[in-house]
Amino acid sequence: MNSYSDLHKNFSEISLPKLTEKESKELNKLKKLGITSVYSLLTYFPRGYDNRNNLKSISELSNNEYSVIKAVPISITISNSFNLKKIVKARVQDGTGIIDLTWFSSPYVAKSLKQGTEYYFIGTAKRSYGLQMVNPEYKIVSSQEKKSYSEILPIYSSSKDISQNTLRKFIKKFFNFYSSVLFENIPLNILKKYKLLSRRDSFFNIHFPKTEYLLEESKRRFAIEELLILQMGILATRYFTNLNNNNLYKLEDKKSLVKEFLSNLNFSLTTAQKRVITQIYKELSNGKITNRLIQGDVGSGKTIVSMLLLLYMVENGYQGAIMAPTEILATQHYLSNYDKFLKLGVKVELLTGSLTPKKKKELVEKITSGDVDIVIGTHSLIQENIIFKKLGLIVIDEQHRFGVEQRKAIRDKGILSNLIVMSATPIPRSLALSIYGDLDVSIIDELPPGRKPIKTKCISTKSDLNKMYTFIHSQLSENRQVYFVAPLIEESEKMALKSIYDIEEEVKIHLPNYRIGILHGKMKNAEKDSVMHDFKAHKLDIIISTTVIEVGVDVPNASIMVISDSERFGLSSLHQLRGRVGRGSHSSYCFLISKSKNENSTARMQIMESTNDGFKIAEEDLKLRKPGEIFGTRQSGLTDFKFIDIIHDVKTIQLVRDECLNYLKLNVGKINNTYLENDINEKFKNKNKI
Ligand code: ADP
Ligand code: MG
Repeated sequence: MNSYSDLHKNFSEISLPKLTEKESKELNKLKKLGITSVYSLLTYFPRGYDNRNNLKSISELSNNEYSVIKAVPISITISNSFNLKKIVKARVQDGTGIIDLTWFSSPYVAKSLKQGTEYYFIGTAKRSYGLQMVNPEYKIVSSQEKKSYSEILPIYSSSKDISQNTLRKFIKKFFNFYSSVLFENIPLNILKKYKLLSRRDSFFNIHFPKTEYLLEESKRRFAIEELLILQMGILATRYFTNLNNNNLYKLEDKKSLVKEFLSNLNFSLTTAQKRVITQIYKELSNGKITNRLIQGDVGSGKTIVSMLLLLYMVENGYQGAIMAPTEILATQHYLSNYDKFLKLGVKVELLTGSLTPKKKKELVEKITSGDVDIVIGTHSLIQENIIFKKLGLIVIDEQHRFGVEQRKAIRDKGILSNLIVMSATPIPRSLALSIYGDLDVSIIDELPPGRKPIKTKCISTKSDLNKMYTFIHSQLSENRQVYFVAPLIEESEKMALKSIYDIEEEVKIHLPNYRIGILHGKMKNAEKDSVMHDFKAHKLDIIISTTVIEVGVDVPNASIMVISDSERFGLSSLHQLRGRVGRGSHSSYCFLISKSKNENSTARMQIMESTNDGFKIAEEDLKLRKPGEIFGTRQSGLTDFKFIDIIHDVKTIQLVRDECLNYLKLNVGKINNTYLENDINEKFKNKNKI
C-alpha cells in the first residue's frame, strides 16, 4: 500500500512499480535532473507540448515561434566548432520549404537521423541567416501517425542521455502507481467555487493532456494552488501576529474631518476611489497593520485618496507622512492640499532636501513633539533620523521611482506603521514580497469622468514635424499649455541641457511670442518650484524640461505633450509622461518624436499610439524586454513561480488572497494541521528561504 508520506521519500526507501533492470538504471539517471522522489518526478512539469495545433509547414514558420514541423532530412553533416565541440547540422525539407537544424554537443544526432526518413522536429524557429532551429527535439513519424497526429505530447527539459520517452514512461508509471495518494490540498469550497480540476486530474492532464482545454484547466488549477500555498503561509503568519497585537492601532473610526474635506472639494470621488477608501478605512480602524498597494493608472486620482487616508489617521489621533520621489511632486502635493488642510485646522508641513538646516531642525522637533499632523516630503523623510511622536501611516507615492536602498529603508520604517504604496503599474508579486514583505492590493480601475483618451502620434519626418507645430500653435491660441520633454541621460547632463536648448531654439522659431519656462535637474529647487508654479498659474504657456517632470505633475490645462528622442524612454515612462496631459476636460495630444528606424522602437511607438491603457502598456513593455530589466527582480531571485505570471495575474492574486483570508477567519487554530499538508509545508519552507 502506498502512503502519502512516501511521495517525498527517496526512490530507494519506497515501494516502486515493477521496473525492469534497464528501467532501474534509467531511474537512477533521473537524479541528474533533480528527480529523486515521486513528488519531484510528478512535479517535473513539461516545459512545452508537442501539439498538432503547432504543426506547421516550413513556409508558414515565423520567427521565435515554438512549432512542430514534419520534414525529411536532405543532408546531415557533423563538424567541429572553434572550441572543438561537435556541431550537427541537418537541412530538412517538407515540400513547402527548407530549414536548417543545428545541434550542439550532440554528435549522436548525426547517427540517429536518417536521410529520406520523415520526422517531427519540435523547437523554436529563429531567423538568423535564414530560418533555423537550434537543438530541436525530433521523433520519427510512425506509419500510423503518418495519417493523423492528434496526441498532445509533453516535452520536458532533459539531458542528452535521458530521452523524452523515458521521462514520459516514468511519469506515467509512477502516476498510476501513486495516484491514489495524491490528495486534494485546496479547500473544497474554493475548488467548487472556481470550478477547479481535482489535484489528481490536474497532475494527469498537465503531463498527458487529453485536450487543450484540460491542459489549460490543469494549469489554472496549479496556478491557484501555487498562490494559495504561498499566501496562506504568509497570511497565516501575519494573521496570528495581528491577533496577538490587535491593540497596536485602535482607532475610533471618526470621520467628521474627512467628510468636511470632501464637501470642500469641487468634484466628487469616483466609485473606484470610494471603494478603495472605504476598504482601507475599515482595515485601518480594525487595529491590524495595513500593508497595501494602491494601483491606479496615471490620472486615476491616487493623490486625493492618499490625502483622505492621511486625514483619517490624523482625525483618529495619529500623524501621517507621504513621500514623493521628487521635490517638484512633493511640493505640488503640499501646495495643492495645504489650503484644504488649513481650513480644517490640520497642520501640514513640507520636508525636502532644500530646507535650510535651521528650518529643518525646527520641523524635525515639531514632528517629534507631535506638533505636525501630516508631513509631505521626499526621501529626506527616511534618510534623516526623524522620529515621529505617533506615526500611524506612511504613504509612498510612485513607489517605482525609489531605488532599492530607499525601498529597504521604507520597509524598515514601515514595519512599525501602516504602509501604503501607490503606483500606476502593478508591482510583481515577487517584488512586493521581497521588498515590502507582502502587500495587499487595491485597484482604482476607473478614471474621473469626462477624461478623453489622449491622441498619440509618432513624428518621424520633417513635414510631420511642421504639421505638429501648426497644430500646437492652434492649441496655444485656444489658451492651452504645452510640455516639451527631452530624455535625461544620467552620465551626460551637458547633453541633456544641450538638447533642451536645441528644443528651445526650435520652439522659438515655430511658436514665437509664447512664454517659455525651462526645467532641468541642475536648477536650484527654488527655481524649479517657481517655474512649475508659474506654469500652473498659466503665467507660462510652454515648459521645456528633462524628465524631472515625469512623475505626477498635475496641470489640468496642459493639453499637449511632446517627447523628443522618444525611443530612448521605456514604455512605462512614456505612459507616465503622456499622463501629464489629459487631466482636464480638454482633448489632449501626445507627440512622440523619433528618428529611429529600429524594429523594436517602432513597435514600441506603435503600442503607444494604439492604447492609453497603462496595464496593457506594462504588459507589452514586458514582452519587449525581459522582466528583470524593468523591475530588478532578477537579482532578487524571486521569479520562481511556475504557473503564476506575476504581471498579468494580479486579479487572480487578489482573489486568492481574499479566499485565504476568509479561510483563516473560519479556521483560526486549525490551520497548521488541516491545511498545511506535508508537501505544502515543504514548498513553503523553500519559498521562505529565499
Ligand atoms: P494619479 O493617480 O496619476 O496620481 P492625480 O491624483 O494626480 O492622479 O489626479 C489627477 C487629476 O485628477 C488631479 O487634477 C485631481 O485633482 C483630479 N481628480 C482626482 N479625482 C477626481 C475625481 N473623482 N473627479 C475629478 N477629478 C479628479
Ligand atoms: Mg500621482
